[in-house]
Amino acid sequence: VKEIGKPERAVITTCAYCGVGCTFRAEMRGEQLVRMVPWKDGKANRGHSCVKGRFAWGYANHQDRITEPMIRDSIEEPWRVVSWAEAFAHTAARLNAIKAQHGPRALGGITSSRCTNEETFLVQKLVRAGFGSNNVDTCARVCHSPTGYGLKTTFGTSAGTQDFDSVMDSDVILVIGANPTDAHPVFASRMKRRLRQGAKLIVIDPRRIDLVRSPHIQAAHHLPLQPGTNVAVLTAMAHVIVTEGLADEAFIRERCDWDEYQDWARFVSDEKHSPEVLEAVTRVPAAELRAAARLFATGGNGAIYYGLGVTEHSQGSSTVMAIANLAMVTGNIGRRGVGVNPLRGQNNVQGACDMGSFPHELSGYRHISDVATRGLFEQVWGVTLDPEPGLRIPNMLDAALDGSFRAIYIQGEDILQSDPNTHHVAAGLKAMELVIVHDLFLNETANYAHVFLPGSTFLEKNGTFTNAERRIQLVRKVMEPANGLEDWEVTQEIARAMGLEWNYAHPSEIMDEIARLTPTFAGVSFGRLDREGSLQWPVNDKAPDGSPIMHVDGFVRGKGKFVVTDYVPTDEKTGPRFPLLLTTGRILSQYNVGAQTRRTANTVWHDEDLLEIHPTDAENRGIKSGDWVRLASRTGETTLRAEVTERVAPGVVYTTFHHPATQANVVTTEFSDWATNCPEYKVTAVQVSPSNGP
Ligand code: SF4
Repeated sequence: VKEIGKPERAVITTCAYCGVGCTFRAEMRGEQLVRMVPWKDGKANRGHSCVKGRFAWGYANHQDRITEPMIRDSIEEPWRVVSWAEAFAHTAARLNAIKAQHGPRALGGITSSRCTNEETFLVQKLVRAGFGSNNVDTCARVCHSPTGYGLKTTFGTSAGTQDFDSVMDSDVILVIGANPTDAHPVFASRMKRRLRQGAKLIVIDPRRIDLVRSPHIQAAHHLPLQPGTNVAVLTAMAHVIVTEGLADEAFIRERCDWDEYQDWARFVSDEKHSPEVLEAVTRVPAAELRAAARLFATGGNGAIYYGLGVTEHSQGSSTVMAIANLAMVTGNIGRRGVGVNPLRGQNNVQGACDMGSFPHELSGYRHISDVATRGLFEQVWGVTLDPEPGLRIPNMLDAALDGSFRAIYIQGEDILQSDPNTHHVAAGLKAMELVIVHDLFLNETANYAHVFLPGSTFLEKNGTFTNAERRIQLVRKVMEPANGLEDWEVTQEIARAMGLEWNYAHPSEIMDEIARLTPTFAGVSFGRLDREGSLQWPVNDKAPDGSPIMHVDGFVRGKGKFVVTDYVPTDEKTGPRFPLLLTTGRILSQYNVGAQTRRTANTVWHDEDLLEIHPTDAENRGIKSGDWVRLASRTGETTLRAEVTERVAPGVVYTTFHHPATQANVVTTEFSDWATNCPEYKVTAVQVSPSNGP
C-alpha cells in the first residue's frame, strides 16, 4: 500500500475465475485498481482467497486488450478499426442478410460461463428472438453438460445439492474426478478443515492428487482407476452396497421409485459387476474398492464432490447418474453433510446453464417443446419461438461444413483453443460466412472472425454470477469499460440494429425479466442481492429466503430415479502405436486456456505445461525430467517437456492445458458423451517419445 498509495475507495465484487465465487474488496486509487482484498463477509469465501482471485487481475489493463471494434470482409484481409455504430450496423446487416437468404436456422450463438447471468440471458434471447433459431449453446457443453443431463434425469434439476458449509457436517467425503486443492482452493480449505477434524476421505482418480496425502490428511482409500472406467468403479461400489445389505431401504422406499430401484439393484447385484470381476477393467484392487464402498455406506453422512474427471468422458452423463444412484442407495440426499456436488470450473457455469444457454432448454431448465413455457416467453418477448431444439456446438461446426449453418456470434469463448479436435473446429469456422467474436483479446478463434467486438472485464461491468452452490452474487463495476460499453450493452445494440425493440437501462432490469420468466429465480432482484449479499436458488414463494440444501422433503422431480448405467468402454483404445492413456487437469496458479492468467504475474509460478509420466514408462523410452517429448495421438501431435513422477500410474500420462504452445487439444479426439456431446478430454490414447523440442 505504501508503494502504490493509499486506496481512496473500494467496491465489493465477485471473482471471475472459478465456481467457488469468492467476493473481494477491490481497492481503487483514482481509476487505478491497487489491490484485491478477500471480503470477510463473503458467504462463499469468508475472507479467504487463492492466488488467482487475489493477484491475477492485471490482464484487465494488459496491452493485448482490444478496445475498438474491427471488421473485415475475409479472414485473409487485415482488420479495419471502425466505430461502434459502424460495427453494429455492419454486423446486423450481415446477420439479417444471411437470415433472409438461408433461414433462421443458419444462424447461432455461443454464450460463456465467464460472463454474467444477464449477458448470457441476452445472448440466448438474441439467438431465439432475433436470429429466430434455438442454435444457442454454451461452453458448459465441453465441461458440465453431463451434469445437466444426469442430475435433471435422476433428481429433477441440474444443480449441486448442497451449500459449501454443508461439508462441515460430512463424515465421509468422496472426491471423484476432481482436484479441489488446485481447481477450487478456497472450498478445498474448508474440506480439508473437516478432514483434519476426522472425516474420512475416499479419492477416485487415476492420479495421486495432493488431497490423497497432504499435511495432517491421509485418504482412507485412493482408488487409482484406469482412465475411462468411472462407471465400472461406481457400479462395483453399488454391487458391494446392495449385495452386502448396506442399502438404506427406508430412504429408498420413502423418497425414490421403488420399482426402478429394484430393477437397478438386480442389475448391480449381478456377479459380473463385482469388484473382483471388474478389477480387470478398472485396475482397482477389489479389496480396496470393497472397503471404500463399505465405508461410504456405513460411515455416517456421505458427501460426493466431483469435477471434469467425471463429465468429460464418453460416459459422462452415465457417471453423473451412477453418482446420483450411489447417493440415493445410501440415503445421502436432502440434509446437511451429504449430497451430490459438481465442482464448477468456471465462475458462472451454473448461471450459464440456468439462463437457457442449451439449445433444448429455456431458462430454469424447461424444454423448448413445452407449449406453456414457450407461450410465456413468446408473450413477454413478443415473438414466435422455434419449437424444435437447436444445434449444439459440434453440430453447428458440422452443419457449417455442409453449408446449412452460416453465421455465429461467440461471446467470451475461444472455441479453437478449448474445444476438441482443433483441426475440425478450424474447418467449421472457416466454412462460415460470418464469425463474430466478442472478447477481450484477439484469441485463436478470432483468426477466423469477420467481426471483432471488444469485450469488458468483470471489473468493468454490473451483473451477477452464480457459483457452484447456486449462490447468486453481485458483480459490481469497479472501473469504466476500456471500450466504452459493457458486454450486455453490446448484445443489446446488435439486437436493436437488427430491428428488435430492446430498452434495458441497467442489468438489474434484465434480472427482473429473468425473475419474471424463471420460477427458480422468482424472488431474485438486484435490490435484494445488494441488501442480503447473496441468494441461493430456488428463491420463490416456497423458499423465500433461498435454498442452501435441495431435495429436503422430496426430489424436484417427485421420486428419485435410479437409472441403470451399464459400463461401456470408450472407443478410444490403446494399442501398439498408442500404448499410453493421456488425461488432463488444472494447476492452482493458472486458469483454463490461460487467456487471463498468462497475462499476469501468475506465470512466475507456472510458465509451461509439463507431461507427467511414470518412471517405468519414462525409463522404457529413455526420458528424464526436463526432456522434450513428442506427444502423439491418432488426431495430432504436440511437443512439451516431461516430468517423471509416480503421481501417475504406469500406462497413464497427464498434462495441464493452460499454455497455447502445448496445444493439448490438437491430440484430443472427437469422441464425446453419448447424451450431451461433452468431449472426451480425459481419455486419449497416445505415444510419448523423445524429441529435440518444438
Ligand atoms: Fe476464490 Fe476461485 Fe477466485 Fe480462487 S479462483 S479466489 S478460489 S473464486
